[in-house]
Amino acid sequence: RFITLEGSEGVGKSTNVGLVCELLRAQGHEVVATREPGGTLRGEAIRELLLNPDEQEPLAEDAELLLIFAARAQHLARLIGPALERGAWVVCDRFTDATFAYQGAGRGIDRQHIATLEALVQGTLQPDLTLLLDMPVTAARERVVARGTPPDRFEGERGAFFDAVRRAYRERAEAAPGRFEIVDAARPLEAVQADIRQRLLARLT
Ligand code: C5P
Repeated sequence: RFITLEGSEGVGKSTNVGLVCELLRAQGHEVVATREPGGTLRGEAIRELLLNPDEQEPLAEDAELLLIFAARAQHLARLIGPALERGAWVVCDRFTDATFAYQGAGRGIDRQHIATLEALVQGTLQPDLTLLLDMPVTAARERVVARGTPPDRFEGERGAFFDAVRRAYRERAEAAPGRFEIVDAARPLEAVQADIRQRLLARLT
C-alpha cells in the first residue's frame, strides 16, 4: 500500500512521515519511507538541480516540471514499484499532488500537461491514502522562519504562490475524499499526531 503526505512548507510533513512509519511498523508491516523530489540516488541528484537557486541560469518552468517527473519515474521504477510488489508499505513525503499544487496552481502550468505526464509515468498508480496537512499560510511560514533553515529556491516564493498551493491541495482533497484525509495542522503537534493516529488506524481496519 502507498501512503503520501502533502502540504505546504512548515506544516510538519517530515515529522509526521516518521509517525506514520512508526504506526505501520508497530502493526508488523515492512515500511519504506521516502520523499519527492528524490528518493533514489538519481532522484536526489535531480532534487539538487531543482532546489539550487542558481541566479545565473534560472530553471525554466517546463524544465522544472520535466525534472520532477524524471525523478518520479526513477523513483517508481527503482524504489516504490519494487517495494509495493514485495508487499511493503511505502510512505512518501510529497508525490504528484504536489506537482499539481506547486507547478500547476503555483506556477500556472496547464493541469492538462501535468495529467499527461502523470499518466505517462504512473499509468493508473495512485496513492491509497493521502494525508493533507493543512493550515493557514502565514502561520506555516512563521514555523519555517522559526526553524531557521535557509530558504531554498522554492521557499523564497511570495505569499500569493503559497495561497494558490494551499487552495489547490484543498480542492484536490475535496474532489477525492476516498483517497484524502485533511488534517488540521495548525494545532499543537500532539493533537495533530493523535488525529493522524486515529485516522490511520480507522483506515487500516
Ligand atoms: O517537501 P520539501 O520541503 O522537502 O520540498 C522541497 C522544496 O521543493 C519545497 O520548497 C517545495 O515547495 C518544493 N517543491 C516544489 N514542487 C514539487 C515538490 C516540491 O516546488 N512538486
